[in-house]
Order: sequence, then C-alpha cells, then structure tokens
Amino acid sequence: MVRLKFLIAVIWVGLFLLPLLASAQTRDPRPWDAPVTCPRCNSDRVVYILYGEPILDEELHRAIDSGRVELGGCEVARDSKRWECRKCGSKWGNVIP
Ligand SMILES: [Zn+2]
Repeated sequence: MVRLKFLIAVIWVGLFLLPLLASAQTRDPRPWDAPVTCPRCNSDRVVYILYGEPILDEELHRAIDSGRVELGGCEVARDSKRWECRKCGSKWGNVIP
C-alpha cells in the first residue's frame, strides 16, 4: 500500500514537473529579441544572423518570417558578424571573439 502511494506521488510530481521544464525551455530569452540598434545609422531594423544548424521550431520560424533572424549557414568564418542592419547594410559584432 505504501509502495502504491509512493508510485502515485512520483506520477503526480512528474505530471507537474514535466510541463514546467518544457515551458522553461521555451521561455529562454532569445538573443534576437534583445533591443539592438545599428551603430552606424541608429536604425532598429536590425537582423540577428544565426549560424550553424539551428532547430527550426515555431518561434524561430516566426522570427525568420518577421525578418528579425537570418540564417548565416553552417560555416562560421573569422570575420562572420552577428548583426546586420537592413537600412544601411552595415554588419557588426564578431561571432568568433
Ligand atoms: Zn544601419
């Protein structure tokens, strides 16, 4: 009887913890959500360039569709930049420090 109660308790804890863990992952602040302005023309139409092979989840799809994120490909070069301005085309922020 005690074992059964323990088992039920474990299942309940699991039911509460799993959604919490899942939502904690999606609530991570995304780097492209940070308010960034272009250092040259001061425009806020700035794109975050994402390198590598990211997991294309719904949130990332929305960010790409709205023009906040651009995929930079798998290769990261020494001069690869993190941000690009849509207005003046300037790029800045080294990916490799
Ligand atoms: Zn600019």
